[in-house]
This record gives sequence, C-alpha cells and structure tokens, in this order.
Amino acid sequence: MSYKLPILNYSYDSLEPYIDTETMKIHHTKHHQAYVNNTNTILQGTKFKHLPIFDLLPKLNSINLEHKIMLQNNSGGHANHILFWNGLKVGTVLTDNLKIALKDNFGSIEAFKYKFETLASNHFGSGWIWLVKLNNMLRIVSTVNQNNPLMGVNLAGVEGYPILCLDVWEHAYYLRYKNNRNDYIRSFWSIVNWDEASKRFNNS
Ligand code: MN
Repeated sequence: MSYKLPILNYSYDSLEPYIDTETMKIHHTKHHQAYVNNTNTILQGTKFKHLPIFDLLPKLNSINLEHKIMLQNNSGGHANHILFWNGLKVGTVLTDNLKIALKDNFGSIEAFKYKFETLASNHFGSGWIWLVKLNNMLRIVSTVNQNNPLMGVNLAGVEGYPILCLDVWEHAYYLRYKNNRNDYIRSFWSIVNWDEASKRFNNS
C-alpha cells in the first residue's frame, strides 16, 4: 500500500472567490502531491508503510527512522491537507451540538471566530490553525510547518482531535491575497464545511 492523493469531491473553482481556482489546482496537484510522494519514498521498505495516515501520526514520536523529521513534515502535510480539503465547502451552516459547544467554550460564536482569526493573524511563518477537542473541551491551537495536533505535544507542541483547520502557508493564499493574510483568514468563514466539522465533533 502507498498513500494516494485524494480526489476532491468539488471542483477547483467551487471555492471562488474565497480561494481562487489556480491556487486550488497548484495546492492540490503540486503541494499535496509532493507530500504524498515524499511520504511514500521515506516509508518504502519499512514496516510502517501499511499504516493509515491518521494511525501513523500518533506513532511518529516513537518511530525510529533515519529520515524521521522528513517523515514528520511530509506525512503531516498529507494528513493536514486531507483535513483541510474535507473541511471546505460553500453554503453550510453551523448548527446543533458544535454550535452549542462553541458558545459554551468561547462565550459566543463571534468570540470563537475572533480568537481563531487572531491566532491565525499572529502566527509567524508557515503553519496551521486548529480547532481541536481535548478532554471534552474545545481549544484553538496553532502548529508550525506541517505539524498536526494528533502527533502529540512532543512533536507538535499541542495535542487534540482536529475539528477544523486553516492552512496559513503562503502557498494557500498568495496568488489572490498577496501579503494580505488577514483577508484570506476572514474569507475562511465563507467556506468552512460546518457539516464536516460537526461530524468530526460528534464522532470524537
Ligand atoms: Mn498547504
């Protein structure tokens, strides 16, 4: 078994104007594909290559491999982009359990969004912003590079089960937004797939 680039269940232009077609195409077929290819190359001939990607991440900390940092970066890149693509859709609505939990944890939906935007805006360099569930609490955390909260505190600096995530690498927004990362961050709320976020929240 080797990892494969997932086929998106929407077209590259379907997130316009929030994420442009060209960015989606390059991001998926070049950036994500490279993380898939590199992960496969690193794991070739090892006993870990049969692990589903989301089973691999929590094990990374205890894996002894020559190219462990490269594996962390690339398997994280593969997993993070699967979550990111699945987490995007135009026209869904935040409802029910997740809406209640966000209000309980952050005071209001506006307060949640403000906290998420602020962390994204202040994140220095490449990385990800996450809403995670940990010990039945919702938290907003960030990771550098392609780290994922599922890798755990030792590798990612944070932990938790991802509910939704935002890619703040420049490759995710630069063609349309240039240096205006804040505009990209605010546009995220127009394309969050709340159905997927709710599903992940309810299943965790
Ligand atoms: Mn990316």
